[in-house]
Amino acid sequence: MNSQLTGQCEPGADCNVCARLAAFRAENRESEPNWHNAPVPSFGDRNARVLIVGLAPGLKGANRTGRPFTGDYAGDLLYGTLLELGLAEGSYAARPDDGLALADCRITNAVRCVPPQNKPTPAEIGNCRPFLAATIGSMPRLKAILALGRIAHDSTVVALGGRKSAFPFSHGAMHDLTPDLVLFDSYHCSRYNTNTGVLTAQMFRAVLLELRRYVDGR
Ligand code: URA
Repeated sequence: MNSQLTGQCEPGADCNVCARLAAFRAENRESEPNWHNAPVPSFGDRNARVLIVGLAPGLKGANRTGRPFTGDYAGDLLYGTLLELGLAEGSYAARPDDGLALADCRITNAVRCVPPQNKPTPAEIGNCRPFLAATIGSMPRLKAILALGRIAHDSTVVALGGRKSAFPFSHGAMHDLTPDLVLFDSYHCSRYNTNTGVLTAQMFRAVLLELRRYVDGR
C-alpha cells in the first residue's frame, strides 16, 4: 500500500503549505469574519463504503459554511441525488445545521482550501494530496470512490500510487484501482457543467446509481 495513505487526514485551520491559498484565506477572514475561512474537513463517517472526491470549496459555499458542497450551487445537485438514492438521509437546506446525514458515504475535496477563481494550481493540488491519501487510507471499509471531474480523478489515482496514463478520466468510467477499490468518474456537478449541458441531472444520477449497485453487489 502507498505509504502516504497513513498520515494526517485534515490540514490545520491555519495551514500555510500553499502561500497563495493562505494569503487568500487571510483576505477572506478580513472581509468576511463570520465565514468558516479555513480548510473544509471531510463530511461523513470514516466507516462508509463510498467516498466522493470534489475539487475544492467554493468561496461563498463550503468556504463560508464549513461543510463540503454546502451552499455551493453544485451541492443542490449532489445532495439532491444522494438523498434520492439513499446515500443521504434527512433534508438538505444548504446549511451545516440542516440535519442532513450521509448514509454509507463520505465527501471530501482534492484541495481543502478555497482557491481564487475556483482554480487550484498543480502545485496546490500536489501539496494537498497527502491529506486526500490519508483520508482514503483512514477508511477501512472503502469500496468505491466517485471522482467529480478530472482533477479529483487524477489526484485520487496518484494518491493511490497509480499512473494517470493507466487510468484516464472518462465520464461514466469505472476503474479497478486496486483489487478492493473501484474508482467511478463523473463530470463535476458544477453550475458551469450543468448550464452548458456537459452534465445533466440524469447523467449524474446514472453514475451514482451504478456506483450504488456496485457497492451493494447488485
Ligand atoms: N464545493 C465543494 O466543496 N467542492 C467542490 O468541488 C465544489 C463545490
